[in-house]
Amino acid sequence: MAEVGALGAAAHWKLEEWCSDWVEQAACRGVETELFYSSSRSQVTKAIGICERCLVQTKCLKAADKLERGMGLKMISGVWGGLTADERILRRRVLNEVLRRGNPDGRCVNGEPN
Ligand code: SF4
Repeated sequence: MAEVGALGAAAHWKLEEWCSDWVEQAACRGVETELFYSSSRSQVTKAIGICERCLVQTKCLKAADKLERGMGLKMISGVWGGLTADERILRRRVLNEVLRRGNPDGRCVNGEPN
């Protein structure tokens, strides 16, 4: 698989199997992967701009969720699904809290502890 934006990282982690069905539609195809992992604010803004016109943004975000589940927060990086690492971490916390409040046993729907 050629490197395609943030998905280049997915390929690096040998995750082609679960993203290959939608990778062909990724707006970041052919864009340098580094753009999605830059520390430059202008580069990050540019990457997010590409994500905003991507037809598979939701699938990409779900892939990031799957990839990052169980990862330490310091391991989470890059722009995926139009969100920065910090935004995805915040999103995960909010979703976990909403799910925890909705479940009397305090566990997420997928059975994982918060
Ligand atoms: S949402 Fe962004 S990172 Fe994800 S596939 Fe689309 S362009 Fe690439």
